[in-house]
Amino acid sequence: MIKTYKCRAKLSCSGHEALSRVFGMCATLYNACLEERIDYYKKTGKSRSYYDQCKALTEVRADDPEYADISVQVFRGVVGRIDKAYKLFFQKMGAKEKAGFPRFKSSRRWRTIEINDQCWQMLKRQGDKLVLRIKGLPRIEVKTKRELPPNALLKAIRITKKPLRTEVALSYEVPVPETKPLNNPVGIDMGISKRLTTSNGETVEKREIDRKELKRLQRSVSRKKKGSNNRKKAVLLLGKEWQRVADKERDYLHRLSAEIVKMYDFIVVEKLKTKNMLRNGNLARSIQEQTWGKFITLLNEKAESAGVIVVAVNPEGTSQECSSCGAVVKKDLSTRVHRCNCGLVLDRDVNAAINILHRGISVAGGRLKQSRMVGRMRDKQGVALARPRTVEVTV
Ligand SMILES: [Zn+2]
Repeated sequence: MIKTYKCRAKLSCSGHEALSRVFGMCATLYNACLEERIDYYKKTGKSRSYYDQCKALTEVRADDPEYADISVQVFRGVVGRIDKAYKLFFQKMGAKEKAGFPRFKSSRRWRTIEINDQCWQMLKRQGDKLVLRIKGLPRIEVKTKRELPPNALLKAIRITKKPLRTEVALSYEVPVPETKPLNNPVGIDMGISKRLTTSNGETVEKREIDRKELKRLQRSVSRKKKGSNNRKKAVLLLGKEWQRVADKERDYLHRLSAEIVKMYDFIVVEKLKTKNMLRNGNLARSIQEQTWGKFITLLNEKAESAGVIVVAVNPEGTSQECSSCGAVVKKDLSTRVHRCNCGLVLDRDVNAAINILHRGISVAGGRLKQSRMVGRMRDKQGVALARPRTVEVTV
């Protein structure tokens, strides 16, 4: 299991400049790799692999001292990135999803360095400080409040420049914890008016994002002349405000998902519709599904660390079905209470959450007892037991 720790990076002023220069070189290399792939395909009808391009990279570095001065792993990360973009494109084409061909990148917008191989030697302890020493890159001090896993292997380093700070993400290989015995299950229904409702009747209200400042800054950008320095400054300020808003929301989702994982050991959520199915014009719903998607990702990550099981089920009809007798009780969105002939009267969302829980138990329940290898199981009807892959901890 891979666990990622996001930390702050501390660099000197000249360090920031040096890093920007490397970003530019990465973008140039990325574009050259993309061009080579396109040309090679036109000439031969075949595609270039990651290994072909790594070989070509060796030649580039032999000819160009500027590239030779920087650790080869930094550039292998770039070659890996284009390889990933290609694979994703063909995978989406294969699945008949909407796919965009990999694009050329502006060097101004390149903001990430990724190192995926042999990076454990790059993170060093100097006195009480943690420092990244990568050939050709400036000295980067890594600031973390949380304890990093002591005996785990560092698998990947990602350095990202963000509007408010430079961030270092450290990914470690850590052992998978054992699954706990189940005695506290919950179903969760997401709502339009409320953020979520649990099968136990707990609700979490929605929080509105304060967009006043964003709107003011957006207006200030559009008032400035295109290409002017003042506009650049205004764009920077707007970017910072966006990050502040996004940080706040992410922080909140982190806390909410942590709390739910702490309270329950078997969590059933609604399976998200794929992006293609979302184009029904209901904007509020699609925005909410995006937030919900982030929430489920966080929930999965935290659940895996804690040995808690998360199951995603098809939510269709869960608000119409009676959670006591199974009869279908038709109701439109404005009907907030579920009333059934069997005598059950319940809040509409709580009824739906209970149905979601029942579906989750029927999907996973029987098999859970005999197997702890929950992550590998897949239901034939396409109901997948959510299999989390990475965990993020913000420090
Ligand atoms: Zn009923």
